[in-house]
Amino acid sequence: MHQCHAHGCQKRVPPAMFMCRSHWFSLRKQMRDAIWKEYRPGQEDDKRPSPRYMAVQRRAVAEVAFKPNDEKAAADAAPYALDAMRWRQVAIDAGLGDPLAGLAKEETMPRSNRMRDDAGQLVDYIKRLADGRVSMEHARGLVAEWEKQDRDFENWAAATHGTTLSGDE
Ligand SMILES: [Zn+2]
Repeated sequence: MHQCHAHGCQKRVPPAMFMCRSHWFSLRKQMRDAIWKEYRPGQEDDKRPSPRYMAVQRRAVAEVAFKPNDEKAAADAAPYALDAMRWRQVAIDAGLGDPLAGLAKEETMPRSNRMRDDAGQLVDYIKRLADGRVSMEHARGLVAEWEKQDRDFENWAAATHGTTLSGDE
């Protein structure tokens, strides 16, 4: 047994499992699929996961840690996000391709989740936060803007839906 890899989680999980059940299912499906794709049975025994696996795994931890979307979450997530970028470079330098390429964009997601779960945007953003190139002021502004877009979209959906219904009557 080992500890769940999610930041700060104490749950014990079997060696082949990456995270505890609740953290695992808090990952978007695309990320879970990527982890299984890069996983090699037995890597937990020989402790030799591939650079591709490590890049995807670290980004997954970063995404879970960043979910609360606040200052503390950014600070928690930054080291994992930067780790993911380092492993990505190791994989590319070794001729293994870009392990994070397929994780950049998820156009099919509901709009309210899309921006926050866009891995490319998340990592770039956390990186800039970690480097001090983006202020926390800006971070809060961005989160407020996302929330406003969510509300606008919900209002628009409700209004459209409502209009259609009343039009049918
Ligand atoms: Zn956990």
